Amino acid sequence: MSEKEGKLFVITGPSGVGKGTLVRSLLKSHPQLFVSISATTRKPRQGEKEGKDYYFLSQEQFKSMIEEDNLLEWATYAGNYYGTPKQPVLEKINQGKTIILEIELLGARQVKENLPQSELIFILPPSEQELERRLRNRGSDSPEAISKRLQRAKEEILAQDEFDHKIVNDQLERAIVQLQQIII
Ligand code: 5GP
Repeated sequence: MSEKEGKLFVITGPSGVGKGTLVRSLLKSHPQLFVSISATTRKPRQGEKEGKDYYFLSQEQFKSMIEEDNLLEWATYAGNYYGTPKQPVLEKINQGKTIILEIELLGARQVKENLPQSELIFILPPSEQELERRLRNRGSDSPEAISKRLQRAKEEILAQDEFDHKIVNDQLERAIVQLQQIII
């Protein structure tokens, strides 16, 4: 174990708000940061790679990860399971490194409960209409999946006050600077 414990940041916000873009930009300029790779039962989207974007698992594989206590947190979202493999996160913290989790609300709450030192960051869209527009423009989800995501987005936005920090992603550059001020 290193002398100084690493930091854990949890980034949450409605699907389509741009969390992924924000985190990728931050990583480009700060390669010392780590992002946890989640497990999911969702099918890969075009261009997504196993072990880079997610570990794509069957339901059986995911359930055995739960049973074997290999997940730091997990939740279902729009009909699929998502979870954070525990071991890599604890390892990075023990090595004094900073690790970022990009997960939904229910998982964020579990992380805060298990590791109270974690800092929770909520990313807000400029408006619900803009979020809907971004989700539809992404073109990667069925209309049914989009409406599930929008419903979930409304629930998540209602919980924003549970978070330690909030960032409105209306202008990417500004949002990156704000995220950087919190994490770096
Ligand atoms: P997507 O299907 O768009 O990649 O992700 C759907 C939602 O699941 C997003 O809000 C994303 O942040 C969240 N998510 C991704 N990985 C995890 C995870 O490991 N745990 C939890 N609880 N949520 C996750």
